[in-house]
Amino acid sequence: MTDPRIKNIVIVGGGTAGWMAAAALAKVLGPDCAIRLVESEEIGIVGVGEATVPHLKLFNNLLEIDEIAFIKATRGTFKLGIQFNDWGRLGDSYIHGFGTIGHDVGLLPFHQYWIKARHAGVASDIGAYSLNTVAAPRGKFMVSATDVPATSPLANIAYAYHFDAGLYARYLRGYSEQRGVRRTEGKIARTVLQADTGFVEAVILESGERIEGELFIDCSGFRGLLIEQALHTGYTDFTHWLPCDRALAVPSENTGPPTPYTRSTARSAGWQWRIPLQHRTGNGYVYSSAHISDDEATATLLANLDGRPLAEPRPLRFTTGMRKKFWNRNVVALGLSSGFMEPLESTSIYLIQSGIAKLLQLFPQRDFSPVLIDRYNAQSEFEFERIRDFLILHYCATERDDSAFWNYCRTMPIPSSLQENIRLFRDSGRFFRHAEEMFASVSWVQVMLGQHVMPRSYHPLVDQMPAQELKAFMASVGQVVASCVDAMPPHQAFIDRHCAAP
Ligand code: FAD
Repeated sequence: MTDPRIKNIVIVGGGTAGWMAAAALAKVLGPDCAIRLVESEEIGIVGVGEATVPHLKLFNNLLEIDEIAFIKATRGTFKLGIQFNDWGRLGDSYIHGFGTIGHDVGLLPFHQYWIKARHAGVASDIGAYSLNTVAAPRGKFMVSATDVPATSPLANIAYAYHFDAGLYARYLRGYSEQRGVRRTEGKIARTVLQADTGFVEAVILESGERIEGELFIDCSGFRGLLIEQALHTGYTDFTHWLPCDRALAVPSENTGPPTPYTRSTARSAGWQWRIPLQHRTGNGYVYSSAHISDDEATATLLANLDGRPLAEPRPLRFTTGMRKKFWNRNVVALGLSSGFMEPLESTSIYLIQSGIAKLLQLFPQRDFSPVLIDRYNAQSEFEFERIRDFLILHYCATERDDSAFWNYCRTMPIPSSLQENIRLFRDSGRFFRHAEEMFASVSWVQVMLGQHVMPRSYHPLVDQMPAQELKAFMASVGQVVASCVDAMPPHQAFIDRHCAAP
């Protein structure tokens, strides 16, 4: 009987997606499975994915990567959340922080108590009750403390990383090659399909070399070399909801200590990012080409840098959306080849990680059971759509009317799933996270409130707490958070002490 197991995997592309897949598959599948990765230096990588979400720690744990070594190698910094400026209204600023807000009481989340207290005038802004959102603008950072009570906010600090994308790919390449992944440099000229099944049989390089495989992972970036160019899988376009379709990226000199958060500032036709690393700051303007010219966008970006630019702005083009199937026949698309929903909440690297995790859970045999493929596609579609809704929320829940772009975003029809979530939250602050959804309720709550979706009412059980007690509860939570932040070291001091690049 022939061995049903897959023994040959070919990864097409050596950007963040390709090397993350190579590292994880090599670690989990071990030497029984041959893994080859093909990349073309001439084509290069997109290289702009530099802000992450806390889930990446789980990926590093799977790979048994030492956090400090990883930060040093990628010249990384730490991220407690994202600061959103000028989104709801010009002059606004709020932080979507990772981690918890206050602490929950019985069945109810903290924000339910906060709503009543806020209406009664005895609560500060919601951000005052979260360690992350207080520590971030004060430039404080530390990893969780082990010498404090488990209930202290310092005992469980949620954070992510900013890193240099090129160094990250290089780091994972070293990791993967040490575990037997074979890298081939070269440009793929064409793909060979099996006549009977339409499965991919091999890729042919410009040099004429033929690379065969059983499972192909398409990490070829926006072009989708296998999933689209060879298999014509199709793409669901989100441009009518997420209208930004271009970006300009430019590094600049650091002007001060790195902030422990990503900054996102809304501009007249999109938004500008600022990502601090140890050796430079990454910046970019993500914009809608229907609402601003490339020249105007370049001028806006360059006029709004904190430090001197270190290169010419690099243009990038994309169409927001997702592949109609993420896994088609024997090809699984990961990274930009699977879809892109713009970088507003740093979700792309997370989606690569999540795709790898799902692939490992649903790992097929050589017969490629359709049930596994269908489940993978259904889960991925669900995940993309929920993230899509979360991103749209930032655009549609705005009061800005100072440009054609914001007038469009404020008045565009939105998916009914998002409409329903906003309606429910506006009514009484309820939100329900669906299974396998990326963002937790606290994320939705912070963005809803940050964008002025204020609940009219709250859960009736909140009234079980007497008014005086509620006031004291708010004050004590705020005080605990403030004193914890006082005890935290500056972010720069933490980096200097533990993880300055050699
Ligand atoms: P790429 O980096 O484009 O890699 C494609 C690979 O395929 C390359 O190695 C290339 O050489 C190879 N290839 C292509 N064609 C061929 C061929 N014919 N032969 C051989 N090899 C080939 N994500 C986040 O999580 N956080 C962020 O802050 C963030 N910011 C972003 C900002 C912008 C403006 C954009 C556009 C994206 C951002 N992303 C972000 C997304 C992130 O950059 C990507 O998810 C990530 O870099 C993965 O890219 P990739 O590996 O899929 O593609």
